[in-house]
Amino acid sequence: MITLVDTTLRDGEQSPGVAFTIREKIEIASLLSSIGINEMEAGTPVIGGDEAQAVKEIIALGLPSRILTWNRVLERDIEASLNCGANALYISCPVSDIQIKKKLRKKREWVKERFSKLLPELKKEGLYVACGLEDASRADPSFVLEVSYLLEELGVDRVRICDTVGILTPFKTFELITSIRKNIKAPLEIHTHNDFGLATANALAGIKGGAVYASVTVNGIGERAGNASLEEVVMAIEKIEGVKTGINIRRLKELSLLVSRSSGKPIHPNKPIVGDLVFTHESGIHVDGVIKDPSNYEPFPPEDIGAKRRLIIGKHSKA
Ligand code: MN
Repeated sequence: MITLVDTTLRDGEQSPGVAFTIREKIEIASLLSSIGINEMEAGTPVIGGDEAQAVKEIIALGLPSRILTWNRVLERDIEASLNCGANALYISCPVSDIQIKKKLRKKREWVKERFSKLLPELKKEGLYVACGLEDASRADPSFVLEVSYLLEELGVDRVRICDTVGILTPFKTFELITSIRKNIKAPLEIHTHNDFGLATANALAGIKGGAVYASVTVNGIGERAGNASLEEVVMAIEKIEGVKTGINIRRLKELSLLVSRSSGKPIHPNKPIVGDLVFTHESGIHVDGVIKDPSNYEPFPPEDIGAKRRLIIGKHSKA
């Protein structure tokens, strides 16, 4: 069984120009939970102000979903999360030499020291701790394994493997996850970005490789080209793989519209699953086929996700 981890409110909000209000965040979190998203990242409390307040209020809703907060491997980040009432945390640290050296100006050893210092204390407190290996896709694979081993020994609840700059292909994702899977027992999460348009494909490949959690955002919003899109991953699993996700897919269009409205990011008309043109047919041959039976030209009926079919007249209607 795959668990989708929605990060619309954290990674999604990191999309340039997006800033949800507290009310919008509560509305999105509640809808996510009610359609069956069991895990979500609510934000980064150390930012403070409205960000921390929103996390606090979302946790206080007592939704049946697990609410995680995002933290660097720093005491003050964790303290800010705990002050919001968090009992589930992501502790994230770069593992690529590029980011360890050029961003953190540290050494590999520092990464291991930080995790070794923080994890036992948090586990002693009974917290759920997921560790994020940032930029794992550009890291030395042997160091990714070394850190994963260490985290497992420290009692981590799951390890998130991040393709932070979106440079994996489905084949490479499969290999990466498979190789970690072979060596550690802790559950793995695949976290993908869409810089080459492969985020959804890579998420599916990660799942195939043995990841049991996958990060997604509604409409695929997120840093740069965005993240794997919730609706694409859900529908691919349900309709292509034929596996139930436990998500109420009939409300996907509603969820997509809510996030589009709140983020101020219109949905591209051709956006897979939720775009306005996805169930619109114009050419004569296709319209004829759809009238006879929609399954002639649709992979699944629009009603499945709460959308509608449209037949329109245009240049291609004659043929
Ligand atoms: Mn990310």
